[in-house]
Amino acid sequence: MSGKAPFIAGNWKMHATPEQARALTAAIVKEASAVRPAVFVVIPPFTLIAEASGIARNTPVLVGGQDLFWEEKGAFTGEISASMLKEAGCSCVIIGHSERRQRFGETDETVNKKIGAALRHGLSPIVCIGESLEEREAGNTMARIQRQLDEGLRGFDRSAAGRIVIAYEPLWAIGTGRTATPEQAEEVHAFIRKNLEEKYGNETSAYAIILYGGSVKPAGAYSLFKKKNIDGFLVGGASLEAGSFIQIAKEARRAYEEEIEK
Ligand code: PEP
Repeated sequence: MSGKAPFIAGNWKMHATPEQARALTAAIVKEASAVRPAVFVVIPPFTLIAEASGIARNTPVLVGGQDLFWEEKGAFTGEISASMLKEAGCSCVIIGHSERRQRFGETDETVNKKIGAALRHGLSPIVCIGESLEEREAGNTMARIQRQLDEGLRGFDRSAAGRIVIAYEPLWAIGTGRTATPEQAEEVHAFIRKNLEEKYGNETSAYAIILYGGSVKPAGAYSLFKKKNIDGFLVGGASLEAGSFIQIAKEARRAYEEEIEK
């Protein structure tokens, strides 16, 4: 593993009531100090961000948005801006999730604009990339990843890149119960880090946080986090239950502690 504290983000997608959001955030806040130095992010639907950030304020738990639009304001019905997320208490935002790419027409070009908007407003983008099953089976995984990085990160300099989190989420693993093996994930993570090194140099790439996402559960978290280039997880389904979300962090921290004790 990389020696970084585990970064564990929970994407709630279109789930939770206000009451559930309060209970889930409060449970994570309560446990977070016991899992130090792991970093937690809860990422509720837009209407529950204020609910979650009210509870997470002044705690080590961060709150994020699931998407944004790149314009500052205007006639963009249904959209939300970076400054709106910021004002609601977000410190980061998911960009280019595969569900947005597949179902809502997100492209590498829109991802690029959204990253720019997030950075202008001091939000850390969590940029999702990943290949489909057909691309993997055709041997095109790395080409797909390379294109998403080249086009998504186009135009950002080293200091901007230092604030971007990358989440590798193979499409065939999201919500399917089929997790990438630690070896499959590590191969792509190492490729991503190398690509960041070519773009931004050694230091930026070494410090970059690269998450794995795709059916992460407590049982697989330790061996994934043991891998050198896996710095944490973007968790969907298992983040809706405080116990499993915290347990994922504990498994990652177990691997982290073994590493720092060496
Ligand atoms: C996700 O939505 O980013 C995700 C990884 O979901 P799941 O953990 O449910 O596969």
